[in-house]
Amino acid sequence: MEQTTRLLAANKRIALVAHDHMKESLMAWVERQRSQLVDHQLFATGTTGSRLSARTGLSITCMLSGPMGGDQQLGALIAEGKVDVLIFFWDPLNAVPHDPDVKALLRLAAVWNIPVATNEASADFLLSSPLMDQPYTTTIPDYDRYLAGRT
Ligand code: PGA
Repeated sequence: MEQTTRLLAANKRIALVAHDHMKESLMAWVERQRSQLVDHQLFATGTTGSRLSARTGLSITCMLSGPMGGDQQLGALIAEGKVDVLIFFWDPLNAVPHDPDVKALLRLAAVWNIPVATNEASADFLLSSPLMDQPYTTTIPDYDRYLAGRT
């Protein structure tokens, strides 16, 4: 598919997700990075988001719980260009019942070329990028041109 561009605003829309054994790690990371994250718009899967907002007081738009469809809801927001960054502490040591949804979320993040962090170190690197607070032009699939070419 041909490519086009999308402009990400300086204020980013960030999705936060953590599997059960990784939730404590994400909570601690968000607390540590609170002063940076507060400047952005936050989304999360249900349990991650409700625990995070109770613990940090941050305003977070919560989806359904991941296994109940929350991962898919976030994937849809990525495909619609409504989420710019994914911080996903997935569990590399335990199986989850919604593994297909996990793969689908990571796949859509790759399709739509959004920055993804999958653990604390990569989340630190991502959040400390100067691009987090600047407008940034990404390259994305030109789906509109693809549709036009099919008619
Ligand atoms: P949860 O979902 O935040 O509702 O636990 C996360 C996930 O398992 O994808």
